[in-house]
Amino acid sequence: NRQAQRELVSFNNDKANQGKFDFIPTEQDLREAIDKKQLILYYQPQINMKTECLHGAEVLVRWLHPEFGLIYPDKFIALAEQTGLIEQLSEEVIHLAIKQSVHWQKLNRATRLSINISAQNITSLKLPEQLRMLVKKYEIDPSMIVLELTESALMDSEVTSLDIFTRFRLKGFQLSIDDFGTGYSSLSQLHKIPFTELKIDQSFVTNMKQEKESMAIVETCIMLAHKLNMEAVAEGIEDKETWDLLSAEGCDIAQGYYIARPMPADQFDKWQFNE
Ligand code: C2E
Ligand code: CA
Ligand code: CA
Ligand code: CA
Repeated sequence: NRQAQRELVSFNNDKANQGKFDFIPTEQDLREAIDKKQLILYYQPQINMKTECLHGAEVLVRWLHPEFGLIYPDKFIALAEQTGLIEQLSEEVIHLAIKQSVHWQKLNRATRLSINISAQNITSLKLPEQLRMLVKKYEIDPSMIVLELTESALMDSEVTSLDIFTRFRLKGFQLSIDDFGTGYSSLSQLHKIPFTELKIDQSFVTNMKQEKESMAIVETCIMLAHKLNMEAVAEGIEDKETWDLLSAEGCDIAQGYYIARPMPADQFDKWQFNE
């Protein structure tokens, strides 16, 4: 029933229709969504600012509800975290992403995928174990998988997570610190965890062209990333002016509506930068 799905998606994607339904999911709804495979993945391109080549894509989950259409993660990730369903949700997202990665590899369009994980996902060895098994089963190069963890999640997590992060890195996965600048992680903590990438929070990126404080924070983040041997990623780039400013500051990777909005896999297949 893909035609009906497509219509629903385009209806809900239309700004004019957003907020028409006030769907507040319950734990049971979300459990059903996971069991009935209603979670789907969108992909947002990331561009290498120097070469202007595709660097990878961020995986962003959506819920394709049979009645309410496309539901965004801000409506259900917090619920998943509060109820513990985040464990199954992340498992599903990772599985779907890895299957997609295999598909793109077969088409000779191998794409690095960045997957968001929550603080609860790193309180046990379950997730590292699942990833290890999937990578083996599907013969994926772990360096093609980036795990994104927010700076605030990092503060919540305990010392044990340091061990888990180190395991991920030793297995060859990439690690990204997301929404950087909005949490309060200490620099010593940042230095202890083997992150490969620093993702500047989009609030600073959005404001950098009109606010000198945001500009200063962005500059400092890029410098810090480079000093600590990480790549600097800017998300939330919405116009050329912001792209140019970031490029002049030596930012490595760019993501945002200026480049492309998140899109389903079949659309991503046909997508090209600068066209
Ligand atoms: P995030 O990880 O910070 O992801 C970036 C969000 O910014 C995405 O929203 C993306 O669509 C949006 N965005 C991208 N470019 C622009 C831009 O130029 N301007 C603006 N205004 N926004 C832009 P989305 O997809 O609604 O996701 C929201 C949040 O939900 C994500 O924030 C992430 O924290 C969480 N999330 C999404 N997928 C997953 C997942 O699979 N697992 C977990 N645990 N969390 C997820
Ligand atoms: Ca993210
Ligand atoms: Ca982010
Ligand atoms: Ca965010």
